[in-house]
Amino acid sequence: MIARRELLAAGSLALAGCAAPGRSASLGRVVVVGGGFGGATAARYLKLWGGAAVDVTLIERHDTFVSCPMSNLVIAGERSLDQISHGYAGLQAQGVKRLRGEVRAVDAAGKTVRMADGARIGWDRLILAPGIGFMLDGVPGLAGALDSGRAVHAWQAGAQTSLLRRQLEAMPDGGVVLMSIPRAPYRCPPGPYERACLIASWLRRAKPRAKLLVLDANPEVQSKKALFERAFAQHHAGVLEYRPNAELKEVAGDVARFEFEDVKADVRNLIPPQRAGDLARDFANVNGRWVGVDWLTMQAQAAAGVHVVGDAVLSASGMPKSGHLANQQAKLAAAAVLQLLKGKPVNPAPVVMNTCYSFVTPGEAMHVASVHQYDAAERTMKAVPGSGGLSAAASAAEAAYALGWAENIWADSLAL
Ligand SMILES: Cc1cc2nc3c(=O)[nH]c(=O)nc-3n(C[C@H](O)[C@H](O)[C@H](O)COP(=O)(O)OP(=O)(O)OC[C@H]3O[C@@H](n4cnc5c(N)ncnc54)[C@H](O)[C@@H]3O)c2cc1C
Repeated sequence: MIARRELLAAGSLALAGCAAPGRSASLGRVVVVGGGFGGATAARYLKLWGGAAVDVTLIERHDTFVSCPMSNLVIAGERSLDQISHGYAGLQAQGVKRLRGEVRAVDAAGKTVRMADGARIGWDRLILAPGIGFMLDGVPGLAGALDSGRAVHAWQAGAQTSLLRRQLEAMPDGGVVLMSIPRAPYRCPPGPYERACLIASWLRRAKPRAKLLVLDANPEVQSKKALFERAFAQHHAGVLEYRPNAELKEVAGDVARFEFEDVKADVRNLIPPQRAGDLARDFANVNGRWVGVDWLTMQAQAAAGVHVVGDAVLSASGMPKSGHLANQQAKLAAAAVLQLLKGKPVNPAPVVMNTCYSFVTPGEAMHVASVHQYDAAERTMKAVPGSGGLSAAASAAEAAYALGWAENIWADSLAL
């Protein structure tokens, strides 16, 4: 529900019309939709770099930011949901106007967004960061199973994370947990394998006769392959069974149907195939699934004035869908939007980077990192040769770095 006072504040902004650059203190109005890693960071850096000259309104349907990174530790009973949740007060203290509510549609030509209650909010530039949506139509029965709680995705953190944790706690010792991994591209390539490792660690301690069956639609582990395979063998043999080339085809009652087998399980963690979040779908010009962007500005190829960041974007080659990259893309977009509002040129050679930690047990983690620079000839981001890296092995030191990374990116994105 939208807080009335906030809506009125934002509504009066909308009624004020477009501020002409240079005419007043205001460079213009930027509306940011989605208060996850991408949207929160964009709102923060617009204010940090634009100051009082730019009006920034962040619209988010939830009251609280709940982090997907570290949510696998919650599922494994190592952290509470509270420890990975934060409010938006830090952003408001920076001058970001926060509006709680659901945006239903974008009118790119009219430069407004329409809220669920019909209110329209105007903008000079729009930044969309709606994250992912699920492609449920291709798997009969999956939508119903997720709606009823017979299956859980826990691929958007919050209620689903807690539900999966509760189902694991309630299952019998000697029971079976099924995890299905969709075909890439999906949010966080190493995320399912990290989750498998952490669930297996917990099962070994709490339900030693239980098994975890991981059925992967992909032909192999999608990130940190050799390191995860080593972890499966060294730490999780006898509990975790991993099978590639196994795509979920249907869910019928308690049975999950794969290409070559039917599986009955006590807990079904079925991660659906993914696309850009609903709000960005009008601009999803790549297979109707992802939003192609101009990497100099993050502006959608399909709509002038509409910038898209985070998981909804068609990733450049070698660029995973990660919170770290959503944060980086948001800074790129914030800087470009401010330049465009000023009528000045944007940075012609932006650079973004990524680091992604994964736990293989509650006490050991590993990382993969990469740096990506704009290539003017090909008009895309390219991995910088020799940059980045991969852990030689998982370690306790990297588990501490992973926790530090999370605290830092939450603080950076949310102005904590
Ligand atoms: C289990 C797991 C582990 C992960 N671990 C890592 C990790 O270790 N490191 C890492 O970098 N990344 C990790 N990720 C990936 C990371 O979570 C995502 O890449 C990141 O959240 C993408 O940010 P985003 O802003 O695009 O989307 P989100 O963070 O999902 O934010 C989207 C926001 O938009 C809001 N929204 C959407 N539509 C509307 C609307 N119409 N109106 C109002 N609000 C709306 C949503 O409520 C949501 O808050 C992990 C993901 C998972 C699932």
